Amino acid sequence: MNRSTFLKTTAAATAAAVTAPLDQLFASGTAAPHQLPALPYAFGALEPWIDARTMEIHHGRHHQAYVNNLNVALATAPEHLKALPIDDLMRRIGEVPADIRTAVINNGGGHANHTLFWTVMRPAREGNAPVGRLADALTRDFGSADTFFSAFDRAALTMFGSGWAWLASDAQGRLLVLSTPNQESPLMQGLTPLLGLDVWEHAYYLHYQNRRAEYVTAFRRIIDWDAVERRYAAI
Ligand code: MN
Repeated sequence: MNRSTFLKTTAAATAAAVTAPLDQLFASGTAAPHQLPALPYAFGALEPWIDARTMEIHHGRHHQAYVNNLNVALATAPEHLKALPIDDLMRRIGEVPADIRTAVINNGGGHANHTLFWTVMRPAREGNAPVGRLADALTRDFGSADTFFSAFDRAALTMFGSGWAWLASDAQGRLLVLSTPNQESPLMQGLTPLLGLDVWEHAYYLHYQNRRAEYVTAFRRIIDWDAVERRYAAI
């Protein structure tokens, strides 16, 4: 076996090792409950603020792992929980059996959080700022957009270790900033996340190393405020 054949064989064996348990868990033509969503833009679309290699690894490996591990955890779950869209599953985390709840928080939260994250970013533009009814609500609830950004950045920068900073809405449409540790989701608190920033080191370390503040500042350039506004309008 030459080196190329060996690498291909090894890669195939690795892929089989990952997928075989899922095939067994969800047999007889039943697809696994959750799938990795496609990125809505190219890996390099957010450069220079988030580099293509980080996006490729973050989406293809990290997010894929959350999806795979969630599907494994759900194998023993009641059928009605398997059928729930991911956001509904996180809202109803209290109904998830205790023996798999931590796995669903970690991996279901990871799936929900990253699915939102990809869709609230877009290629950078000058003068990027909140729009529409959401812009009005930010002024109403924070005093100004600048005050909101201060609170959001503080949430991102003071999160010790791995987690997320969020702009979220309660059921009445009131806005708040919060952070969550690890992959916990605001959905678990009855809130609707509108904008999320991943501050796990895997989200920025290749380009920014330990300079989280630079990554947090850069994020403002690539927020898709139209997408955030649509999320708010749907509440
Ligand atoms: Mn991440």
